[in-house]
Parts: sequence; structure tokens; C-alpha cells
Amino acid sequence: YQSKPVAGRHFLQIPGPTNVPDRVLRAMDNPTMDHRGPDFGRFGQQLLEKVRAVFRTEGPVVIYPASGTGAWEAALANTLSPGDRVLMCETGWFAHLWQEMADRLGLKAQLLPTDWRRGADVAAIEAALREDKDHGIKAVCVVHNETSTGCTSRIEEVRRAIDAAGHPALLLVDTISSLGSIDYRHDEWGVDVTVAGSQKGLMLPPGLSFNAVSQKALRAAESARLPRSFWDWRPMLAANATGYFPYTPATNLLYGLDAAVDMLLEEGLDEVFARHDRFAEATRRAVRAWGLEIQCEEPRHYSSSLTAVRLPEGHSANALRATILERFNMSLGNGLGRLNDRVFRIGHLGDFGPLSLVGTLGGVEMGLAAAGVPHKPGGVQAAMAYLNGNA
Ligand code: PLP
Repeated sequence: YQSKPVAGRHFLQIPGPTNVPDRVLRAMDNPTMDHRGPDFGRFGQQLLEKVRAVFRTEGPVVIYPASGTGAWEAALANTLSPGDRVLMCETGWFAHLWQEMADRLGLKAQLLPTDWRRGADVAAIEAALREDKDHGIKAVCVVHNETSTGCTSRIEEVRRAIDAAGHPALLLVDTISSLGSIDYRHDEWGVDVTVAGSQKGLMLPPGLSFNAVSQKALRAAESARLPRSFWDWRPMLAANATGYFPYTPATNLLYGLDAAVDMLLEEGLDEVFARHDRFAEATRRAVRAWGLEIQCEEPRHYSSSLTAVRLPEGHSANALRATILERFNMSLGNGLGRLNDRVFRIGHLGDFGPLSLVGTLGGVEMGLAAAGVPHKPGGVQAAMAYLNGNA
């Protein structure tokens, strides 16, 4: 579907979908099997068991044939009732979309805004919960890694804030652009529903999404009254007990998931996270060497899966991205919502090695020159020097 023939593989450096490794492509390239036959049950059971490790949970993980947006809806629809209040941290565009969904579903979102240059305001969460003496707030919703800004929220601190306020609200966390890229612990951090998607750290094409579910969330699901059918955990979990699904699963994507989880576990999750941390730091060094500004202003909230870079006043991030695509066959993320044309986003997550990073940054540095964006040369050099010292 490329508009013109281009030599060399396209650099897909948006912050998801990410590049799908050959091992995953080969795994998906197998005949679709009978999803009600005996082989499927064996395959499904071991996969549903194995995938828990990526979420660092002992509890169930529900898998939907849907994009991440579906898993957002599933998290809300399974646990909440019409008119319930939810505390939502508006860290950027994706948090905003989740809040819009909550409103459409008939929930009452209470917003905790940020300036889109840092993660969730943990002190504000604690204050709002302390104020809520009659426990009208039923859930706290946080996007772990805000893909529109490159800011990561500290989920373990959010957990502590909820506990410090002595509040019973559920904790719902979106890890769509952090799972398999940034340290995340569903059980240890007491998360009730973790929302995830296939197309980022899991290195798969789009089309699968996930809810990891705590015992407390399962109990909430028994009395929750929002309408739910396709997203209902109960028939899913009943069928999953023997490795099956209540409706047709995305069989070939599940083959890919099986391979992708093996790859992450073989590398070791801690090493996967350390690799992403390294590439993120190298990228930030390149950005600073160019003399450009990182969208995230709070170093504790720097994202390891992407870096959003601000353009100098009067320069267009979209024009820069168009130049880079045209000349160097690389896609970079656009600015979303109020950041449209103000930032571009470098994805450095998923199946990504040091030379992928050097190539990516090389494309950006050449693009900055080609598009006439004022900058200093030497960003790639700064990144390489860092990578060499931290291989
Ligand atoms: N949440 C975050 C943090 C995302 O990055 C995205 C997509 O990029 C979504 C939600 C929506 O997911 P999807 O586009 O797969 O429906």
C-alpha cells in the first residue's frame, strides 16, 4: 500500500503500533485452527496462564478481539453503575478520551487536570479522596504512560495515596503504551483493572486488548449495573477456565501473542525495561544536544517508551514529520489534541535495538536540517556516546 516504491524497510517509529518481529510474524503465519476443537483448549489454557507474567499478576487476564478502546470500556462497564463518580487524571489526550467515554457511558467523571507536561498529580488524588467522606467516588482512573505527552504516572504512589486516604475506590490503570516496556506490577501495586493493548510493547499488530482483573474488581462486577454484553467478564472467565472463549477469538493474533510473550520472558522483563530506559535516556540526550525541548518537564515522569519533542515557536511539527516521511521513509508520531503541530513523538518501544535507535535519531536529525528547523547538530553523536557506555 506504499504510494511509491521505496528501498529499505520502513521505519515505523510512532509510539505504536510498533514493528512486529519476524518471530511473531512467523507464528501468526499458521493455519487458523478450530477454536472449539481439543487443540485450541490446550493452546488457550497455557497462553492465558503464561500471559499473566507480563502483567505481574496471579489473577485472570481477559483477552478481547478489540483495540485498546474496547478494553477501556470493559474496565468501566464491568465494575461500575450508572451515575457512579470516577476520579480521572487528565494527563493528556488519551486520558481525555477515556473520560469522554466515561461520560458517554453515564458515569460522572471528576477531573484532576494537569498541564500535559507531567504525570498524574498524586497529592491531588489523595486530597480528592480525603474530601470524599461518603465514598461516592467508585474508581480512580490513571493512564500509566500518556502516549500523547511522553509522561509516565507513578502508579505505586497512586496506590499509596488511595490507601493513605483510607478510600475503597477501585484503581483502574491504562497500560496500553507501557505494558512490556515500562516496569509495571498489577498485583504488587494493588491495581484492580489493568487495561492493555497488543500493538505496542507486546510487539503485535493491533487487534487484541486486555483486562487484568483483581479479586476486588471481580466482586465489584457482581453488583455493577452498567449494561455489558460483549465485554462481560463472566462468560469470558467461564470459557477461559478450559482455554476457550465465548465467541470467536482472534486466533492468529493469539499465536502471535504466544510468541511475543515467550520473547519478553526469554529476554527477562527486567532487562526489557532496562533496555527501554536506556533507549529513552539516549533519545533525551539527543534532543538536548539538538537544543530542542522535551514535552515532559518532570524527570521522574519521563517515559521510557516514547519521547515527545517540542518544536521552536513558529515551526510546524507536522511539516517536519512530512519531510522525514518523504525523504527518509520514517513515520513519527503526531501531536494530539492541543499538541497538534506543536510536538512530534519518537517511539522507542517494542522490538527495538540500539541500531534501530541510531537510525531513528539519524532520520530525525537529517529531517530537522531538511525542514529548516533551528537546531544544533550532534544529537545522534550524543546518543551513540551514551549507548556505547551503557551497552
Ligand atoms: N490509551 C493509550 C495510552 C493509548 O496510547 C491508546 C492508543 O494509542 C489508547 C488508549 C487507545 O487504544 P486503541 O487505539 O488501540 O483503541
